[in-house]
Parts: sequence; C-alpha cells; structure tokens
Amino acid sequence: MNDQPVSRQTFDEVMVPVFSPAPFVPDRGEGSRLWDTAGREYIDFAGGIAVTALGHANPALLRVLHEQGGKLWHIGNGYTNEPVLRLAQQLAALTFADRAFFANSGAEANEAALKLARRVAFDRHGAHKDEIISFTQSFHGRTFFTVSVGGQPKYSEGFGPRPAGIVHLPYNDIEAAKRAIGSRTCAVIVEPVQGEGGVIPADPAFLSVLREACDAHGALLIFDEVQTGVGRTGHFYAYEDTGVTPDILTTAKALGNGFPIGAMLTTDAIAAHFTLGVHGTTYGGNPLGAAIAGKVVELVSDPALLAGVRARGEAIRAKLAHLNERFDALAEVRGKGLLIGAQLNARYAGRAKDFLSAAAHRGVMMLIAGPDVLRFAPSLIIPETDLNEGFARLERAFEDVCGSR
Ligand SMILES: *Cc1c(COP(=O)(O)O)cnc(C)c1O
Repeated sequence: MNDQPVSRQTFDEVMVPVFSPAPFVPDRGEGSRLWDTAGREYIDFAGGIAVTALGHANPALLRVLHEQGGKLWHIGNGYTNEPVLRLAQQLAALTFADRAFFANSGAEANEAALKLARRVAFDRHGAHKDEIISFTQSFHGRTFFTVSVGGQPKYSEGFGPRPAGIVHLPYNDIEAAKRAIGSRTCAVIVEPVQGEGGVIPADPAFLSVLREACDAHGALLIFDEVQTGVGRTGHFYAYEDTGVTPDILTTAKALGNGFPIGAMLTTDAIAAHFTLGVHGTTYGGNPLGAAIAGKVVELVSDPALLAGVRARGEAIRAKLAHLNERFDALAEVRGKGLLIGAQLNARYAGRAKDFLSAAAHRGVMMLIAGPDVLRFAPSLIIPETDLNEGFARLERAFEDVCGSR
C-alpha cells in the first residue's frame, strides 16, 4: 500500500499540468458542504462544474451505489443489463427521443452525436453533405473532433490538421444562421445556454430559425445539453422550455451526479443509421453507472424538485442584485434556473479569478466562465441555510476584492 504523504504540492510533481487546482484539497462532502484535508469547511456553489446536482454523499444514490456495487459493475457490450435498459426507458419517456446510446462523458456523447449526424447525411444524401455548423465560444468537449467543433480556437490549435467541414457562426445571430445553413449542411450543434462560453442563453427565436433552416435543408439539429440537462435550468432538459425540439440531444455531467456517464438521445429513424458495429464503447452503458443515473433521473424529474430549482435560481439572482447594490461590481446577471452567470462590469474586467480565490479563502467554492464571468452551478437541492451562509461568506469575499464600499 502507498502511504506516502501527499499534498497540493504533489500535484505539481506527478500530474500532467493541464489543470491548476485550488491551493486546498477537498476531502469529504455532504449535501452542499465540503471539507478539505485541513478540516476547513466550504459551501459548494460549483457542484463539481454542474455535476453533483443532488449534492455530495446523497443517501439515496449511496444506497444504489452499494446495492449495484455488490451485484455487477461491468460486463461489456456483448451483454446487456437491466439498469441500462431501465435508464433508456426512463429517458425515452421523459423526452422526444426513442433511443439512447450511452458513453462515459459529455465529449463522448457529442462525439457519437457528430459521427451519427455525418453518417445520416452520408446515407441519405451522399458524401458531399458533411458540413457541421457550430458557434463561436461554444464548448463541446476535448476529443479532437468535439474540440474542433467547439468555438474556442485556443483549445483546438496546435494538434495538427483539423477535421474538415466545420463552420463557426456567431451565437444568437439569426441572419448569419439563415445565410450559412444550406444544402451542404449536415448538422447544427448548439448549447441552449452556452455554459463554458460565459453563461449565455440562446434567444428562442434563434433556436426556431435553426430548427426551420435544418428542416428546410435536411440537416440535423443537435442540442448539447451536457451542462444544461438533468434539471439544471429548472426543466429536465432545457429544450422543453424553448419551443424547439432537437433531432439529437447529448447529456452527461449531472446524469451520474459524479459517476462518469453520458448519453446521446435520438429518434428511431435517426438511430437506425448507427447499425451494428458502426460505433461503440467499452464502458458505456455499464450497470453500475446506469443504476446510479437511473436514480438521478427518477429524483430530478420530480416536478417539485424542478420547481425548487427555479425558486432557488430566483433567490440567487435576488442575492446577487443585493450584493451588487453594495459593491457595484456586476454589469449583468443571466442564465437559467441554477446555471447563473454574473458578468463583471468594466471596473473588474478580467478579474473573475480574483473573486474565485477570495471566495475560496472565505469558504465558498464557485466557478468562473472566462475572465469576466462568475458562474454558479450549485446542487439543485441546496438547502436555504447553505445558500444564505454561502452568500454571507461571498459578501466578505467581495469586500476582499472591492474594498468595503
Ligand atoms: C462539460 C461540457 C462538455 C464536455 O463534457 P466532458 O464530460 O468534460 O467530456 C461538452 N459540452 C458542454 C456543453 C459542456 O458543458
């Protein structure tokens, strides 16, 4: 057994340096509170980046983890299993979709969606119909295909020739979308709220135009709901509140509450193009992940829980407005449900990280979305006392950065 002491410093010695984690090391969590290895307590407004929707160490999920963990973890896709079949049924019952393909992450779910769209266009129209339309500042994952489709060039440069047939348009630009979507378009992929790109909700009129243009040109509309899905916006999936139904939807993050699982959902007619052997995965759809996700879906799809998400979202907006009366640091608060972005005003331009560090110092974990946006993605069931305590601490963090105004 390895019982050598480890610390944050060890990260800089033995980890590939693609991340720059906080100076403390979280050790244990319960609900919306976490404790680090030194025993310091934090209120969790980050939710593991919109993942731990039902909080840490959720008792109902722990029960499923223990039960399924003692039965069967993995068998490979030469066999199916009851948890994954039930999960697919649940997701089909809750959405426009008839069928699911399971993967282990958001990027893999998007990879499957993009490959499927290319295959559908190839089968129906031929090799020329290969253009994938995406939007600037979008984020779809870090596999080479998904990162190339994503709209942040700094993530996709320097890895050799990029996959061809990818076009980026400005987000929420109706005229640009009307001009660009045409006979060569195979698919349009869009986040109903751009998460990593700054918490920017799509204009419903923009989404309708994408839907109409895709229909007019035989292209598929893919909603990347990896961040917005599983209750985050106050609806089980964000598309439900947009008036637009996609052809393919991808979901991950909160789906497993931290157990890695992702899924691509689609209709019978589109799924038929992924025939035997055309795509695959080793871990995807394993019984352990599927059992946990099944419980997550059951709990989060409860209309009372979803109403609670909308109410908590309003409460956070009110608290941010109140904070801003004192500090005058925010230009805008936007987002949906419990995916909230607070855009810093010109005086604090580029300083989101300073707020993040000050918050951690005062005992609050939160997120940023670029250099100018503070992002909140707490548990969907965060108790009111934790919200209040978190904002009391955040006020002290704002004092640290802005001075006591
Ligand atoms: C996080 C995210 C992804 C990537 O998910 P991973 O699980 O990190 O691969 C893709 N799309 C969106 C919208 C995301 O927020």
